[in-house]
Formats: sequence, structure tokens, C-alpha cells
Amino acid sequence: MKHVVKFSGGAASAVVAKLVIDEIGHDDVILLYSDTKSEHPDADRFRAQICDFLKHEMTVVADGRDLWELIDDNHTLPGQFMPFCTQLLKQRPSDRFLKALGEDFISYLGFSIDEIRRAQRSDARAAANGERVAFPLINAGLSSDDCKRIIRDEWGICLPEPYKYLKHNNCIPCFKAGAKGYWAAIAKHYPEQFERACQAEEKWNYTVFRDITLRQLKDLSGREIEMFPDEDTTPCMCAL
Ligand code: SF4
Repeated sequence: MKHVVKFSGGAASAVVAKLVIDEIGHDDVILLYSDTKSEHPDADRFRAQICDFLKHEMTVVADGRDLWELIDDNHTLPGQFMPFCTQLLKQRPSDRFLKALGEDFISYLGFSIDEIRRAQRSDARAAANGERVAFPLINAGLSSDDCKRIIRDEWGICLPEPYKYLKHNNCIPCFKAGAKGYWAAIAKHYPEQFERACQAEEKWNYTVFRDITLRQLKDLSGREIEMFPDEDTTPCMCAL
């Protein structure tokens, strides 16, 4: 039996990895990372430091394309209702790896105590597919903020840079993040990636929001933008 931690490189999955290794040991634990080639480079630094700290190597799987190549190949943008980026960049490479394992496994997901309903939905989906999942953070009563504090204050590891501005360490940008405040934060802190998203909207004639293009969003006044919550309120489900 293998114990597979869906290791995204975010704070929650790093703490999950520690909890699972503490309980199971190193031998049958796999830290499985699906590389979208679209994250902030500091996430690589973070993953490497976490693996050093845990004394455990991660296993990397990938589709091979980045988000922008995927958009061009599909002639449209992914989104909350069309999350083909999650499926193609994360789920499919991960599923292929797990199938090739050729033995039973249980997956450990990084849902925290604040995300019990999402964990319940994930549990139901896994059961329907005949798979087993576990939620160590919920069992330990840990919140997302607890995870960040543990990593920063107890392990002495700096969190990935995107946490300074965003709630999650995902692709930049994450097209599944449905909040305008999230995109305003991307425009402000990651202007190069925001411009690529504007160009992708224009190229494929498809907008992230129904009522406003990203370029129009960027051109709103600072005061108008402040009306949006400055964070990504709809997190990616990529760990699933
Ligand atoms: S993090 Fe966001 S953009 Fe990246 S694969 Fe997941 S849903 Fe898509």
C-alpha cells in the first residue's frame, strides 16, 4: 500500500506531508507533485526546502505544456465551469502515475479545518471512483493559517512569494479563481502574467468575466478596484 500526498507546493500540503511521514515513515510515502510549469518560480525554492526539511524526495509528473500552451491548443480559456487546465495539467498526469503504480494507494489531501465541506465533496467523489482519500489537517484540527504559521515560525522556512498577495500558491494567474479582487491583485503584483491573460482573452475572444474584460478591469480606478476583495476567494481544486 502506497501513501500518496498530493504535494502542490502550498503550505497545507507541506504540513500534510510532514503529518503523513511522521505517521507512516518514509518507505511507502510518495510526495506527488503535478508541475503545471505556470507557477511563481519561488514555489520551486519552497518545495525544495520542504523536501530538504522532510528528508524526502518528491515525485514530479507533468503534461509538459504550460498554461499558455494549453490555452492555445484548446482555443479558449479555462475557468470555473470549464477547468480543463486542472484536468490536463494536474489530474491526468497524476492519474497516469497512480495507475502505473500497480498497487493499492490512499491519497492525502490538504483540505484544512476551514474546508470541511470541500473535503466531504472530495470524499464522495473518491468513493464513487473506488478510491480512498484522507484529510490529515482536518483530523489534526489545523487551519490554513495554522499551516502557514507552523512552516514559517516552527520550521523556519519562508512561504512562497505569492502568499504575500494571494491566498493560494497556484498558477499565476489561476483561471479558476472567480473573484475580480483576485484578478486586480494579479494586475497589481504580476503585471506580465496579467497582460498575457488579457492577450489570451483577445486572441480567443473569450472573457474570464461576463460583464468586463480583464483589460477593462485593469483600467478601473484604484477606488473601484478597492471595492473588490483583494484575494482569491475561489481556490483551485487542483489537489484533487
Ligand atoms: S492552479 Fe488554476 S490555472 Fe493552474 S491548473 Fe489549477 S485551476 Fe488551472
